[in-house]
Amino acid sequence: MTDTPTIAIVGSGPIGAAYARVVLESHPTARVVMFEAGPQLTERPGASVRNIPDADEKARARELSQGPQAGSLRESLGLPAGVVVEGMFTARQGTHLLDFGGEGSAHAPTFPAAAASTNVGGMGAHWTAAIPRPSGSELVSFIPGDEWEDLVSTAEKLLHANSAAFADSPIGGAIRALLDEEFGAELPEGRGVSTLPVAGDPQPDGTIQWAGADVVFGPLIEVGSPLAERFELRDLSLVRRVETEGARATGVTVEDLRTHVTRFVPADLVVVAADAFRTPQLLWASGIRPPALGHYLTEHPMVISTVALDGERMARFATEDDLKVELARRALNPADPVGAVNRIPSSEPDHPFSLQVMYAENPPFPLDPTHPHAGNTWGYVNMGYGARKQPRFEDGVTFDDAELDYRGFPNMTISYELGDQEKAEIERATAMLRRAGKSLGTFIAEPRLLPPGSSLHFQGTTRIGEVDDGTSVADPFSRVWGFDNLYVGGNGTIPTATSMNPTLMSVALAVRGARKAAADLAAADVTGSEGIPAA
Ligand code: FAD
Repeated sequence: MTDTPTIAIVGSGPIGAAYARVVLESHPTARVVMFEAGPQLTERPGASVRNIPDADEKARARELSQGPQAGSLRESLGLPAGVVVEGMFTARQGTHLLDFGGEGSAHAPTFPAAAASTNVGGMGAHWTAAIPRPSGSELVSFIPGDEWEDLVSTAEKLLHANSAAFADSPIGGAIRALLDEEFGAELPEGRGVSTLPVAGDPQPDGTIQWAGADVVFGPLIEVGSPLAERFELRDLSLVRRVETEGARATGVTVEDLRTHVTRFVPADLVVVAADAFRTPQLLWASGIRPPALGHYLTEHPMVISTVALDGERMARFATEDDLKVELARRALNPADPVGAVNRIPSSEPDHPFSLQVMYAENPPFPLDPTHPHAGNTWGYVNMGYGARKQPRFEDGVTFDDAELDYRGFPNMTISYELGDQEKAEIERATAMLRRAGKSLGTFIAEPRLLPPGSSLHFQGTTRIGEVDDGTSVADPFSRVWGFDNLYVGGNGTIPTATSMNPTLMSVALAVRGARKAAADLAAADVTGSEGIPAA
């Protein structure tokens, strides 16, 4: 018996970080050891790469996160020799495609843009940091409303939520005013055009320090903090198996990617927060195979466009002096392409979509200098509608024990199809995007549907459920069905069809799981753990 239980957490993204923070704050003596397959990129673990001012340093941090697509840096990540990647990068910077085309790559012809990040902080080191709340049918019906309110506000605190980012920007205000003229009358009270809630801390000069897993870790990574003494983060440490005995996880088998030494690390409780594809893959590789594992994959079909803002229309709500002030502020942080951030949130039944409108002084792609809207005085907006995908068993990732991927795990095949409901909603979202664009200016990139997987919001593959009826992987507290002490975390746990960015919801679900884990550990007669051997 020990009164210092050990929790092993797989994955150091925002969700792993939330588990670590809440368990350690809720339990007086527990220790957390976190294993991350990728490298630490920044001095402060898990910080957003967007905050790195130096362009070369930023590019290197992104490349280091790209696992098999990390170019010449691949060997330093402990990847097996001979990993061959074909073709050009098509993933977002800081991510790597799952189906990268070389030997050991996943098979995802119907979900080609699926990608992951492999680094301390996970995708949370590269994300846009938009954290709107879920609403209506996006919510989980079996979590009581007042508890949900507490969970989601706790998640907002953990992520340093800011619901009024750039709210003082007159350019952002003019964009909102024009969108409101177009849509205001048809949107319900409280669900109209507004600023997009983001995770980050406004700085005195008007810029934002974007949040990553670092802010979620908070005191766990502050030198001298008592909680830091009970927390250990091991990077370049690939968890190969969750070990189990009956209904209990007993620990994890971990490969140190620097030395390639593999050993067992005992634990009293295991949390797998290794993203929506690699969490089910690790469970599968560990022989933990609930029928819903990997299935019910959803994401957000994305329709995007770029618009050159119309001077006359903008001038109805902002002056040229306002524009000068805005551009001067933007010049303080030229490495960060995002200015004022606005949105129209989802409202059912008429607007089950989420619109995101990001102002930038330059378009996101090179524009021929002879283009009539090159160098547009009032700048541009990049806009996108996220639509819903209804969960279906048939959509998902399956694993092949006979074919190993580049890391030696059962390889993934992703199957995915849009149904009639999704196609109809995408059509409506496209029509809304056309209206939004026309109300603001002229399209320089027409609305277009991105290839499946592009949202990077992969959900449902380890979904929670109210009862163990084969349609979910974990219980309402994210405990894998049939296990007392094995939790899953991340967007994979979201069981509903949503249109909003999912991280806030996943952090809220993680807070629920972590509170339960801490309470169970406190109540348990913890036996058998001999602590963690030193790295
Ligand atoms: P991740 O952040 O993906 O972290 C999982 C970690 O687990 C990874 O670091 C991985 O290396 C590690 N891992 C995997 N397998 C193993 C193993 N076997 N052993 C050890 N470690 C392992 N979301 C939003 O809500 N809003 C946004 O605006 C937004 N914008 C985005 C923009 C970009 C460019 C990207 C890339 C993502 C964006 N996202 C956004 C998605 C968001 O980043 C994710 O929802 C979030 O990071 C999920 O957190 P996580 O901890 O579950 O997983």
